[in-house]
Amino acid sequence: MPVINQIIHQIQVSGIRRFDEAVSPIPDIIKLTLGEPDLPTPAHIKKAAIQAIRDDCSHYSPLMGFQRLQVAASQYFNQKYGLTYAPSEIIATVGATEAVATALLTCLNPGDGVLLPTPNYASYQPVVAMAQAHLITVDTTSAGYKLTPAQLVATIAAHKNDHLKAIILNYPTNPTGITYTKAELAALVTVIRSANLLVISDEIYSELTYEQPHTALATLYPEKTITINGLSKSHAMTGWRLGFIMAPLALINEMKKTHQYLVTSTSSISQMAGIDALTNGLDDGAKMRDIYQARRDYLISRLSEIGLNYCYPTGAFYVFAQVPADFTGNSWAFATQLAQQAHVAVIPGSAFGPAGEGWFRISYAASMTALRTSMNRLAIWRSQVPIK
Ligand code: PLP
Repeated sequence: MPVINQIIHQIQVSGIRRFDEAVSPIPDIIKLTLGEPDLPTPAHIKKAAIQAIRDDCSHYSPLMGFQRLQVAASQYFNQKYGLTYAPSEIIATVGATEAVATALLTCLNPGDGVLLPTPNYASYQPVVAMAQAHLITVDTTSAGYKLTPAQLVATIAAHKNDHLKAIILNYPTNPTGITYTKAELAALVTVIRSANLLVISDEIYSELTYEQPHTALATLYPEKTITINGLSKSHAMTGWRLGFIMAPLALINEMKKTHQYLVTSTSSISQMAGIDALTNGLDDGAKMRDIYQARRDYLISRLSEIGLNYCYPTGAFYVFAQVPADFTGNSWAFATQLAQQAHVAVIPGSAFGPAGEGWFRISYAASMTALRTSMNRLAIWRSQVPIK
């Protein structure tokens, strides 16, 4: 197939999307699949967007976004997490997805090694492959899905000839819902700093932490952290496509070029909505967090009742649960049977890398009614269907 780039040819659409698309036609299916808030975007943000349309905000913005948006983001992330990025150190992107791609494509050279704790969100590997760099995954399963300093030291030592350049961190973590304390992050930063690694820190779920505050990595390692964040999860704005890259100016100046030639800029209307979200919507995330927390509590109590093992989630809106031991197939087969027989759709753990095999991810970005019905169906299925 000579007309197609060989790297792109080998990349697949993510397992999350492939599974979701495969089960979507099943009648009466309850989908606990995508990381897609079911809650509406707050009304004040929608109003700001409507006003922007009325005001003919239909032109290109500056490449890095409207300056008012950069200022609003600088103040918001300072107030929320004590980050001290200047407005000029912030690029508005087409969601966190573009932010991740722009960061990786800008910083990686062919042959560079990139560390990644796994199971992991699916969009890092393909971009690392596009940059012709290679991933070195660190399986966190045995440590409750948290990367430990000892694991990191051992992995760095084992790969000292692999041109280690960077580490990708994502917390609260998709798919496991775990997050790190400040002390845990500080211990990791000690190792990261001594190895002089760049960190791409994907903190898109920073507003969704339960029982503990979020610590932004750049507050501990400002000199070599690229912070990724956005409004998709905190303000239920997935479809608006608005994210941010924040980094020291020298890195931003390089990433600005990648960003320009990939997308030029993100939607002007979404940016105007974003200014409103960041200035008048400081509490929006907390309100949604309370709703998600109630759902999480419900879900884990039902899973315990049904007798399914899970990783206790302290952030995001996912529960990572274990395929029952009496099921002999893999996680894809389990999720397929659950969808076909009980009409409940979850994502097979293998969609998050080989370390996710034997597990499945439930998204509770779904209504209480959907969660109740799906757990009732799961309980009946578990008690009635002979598991093979
Ligand atoms: N990073 C992680 C860890 C995610 O889970 C997601 C979406 O699910 C994204 C990035 C993408 O976010 P966005 O919709 O802002 O592109």
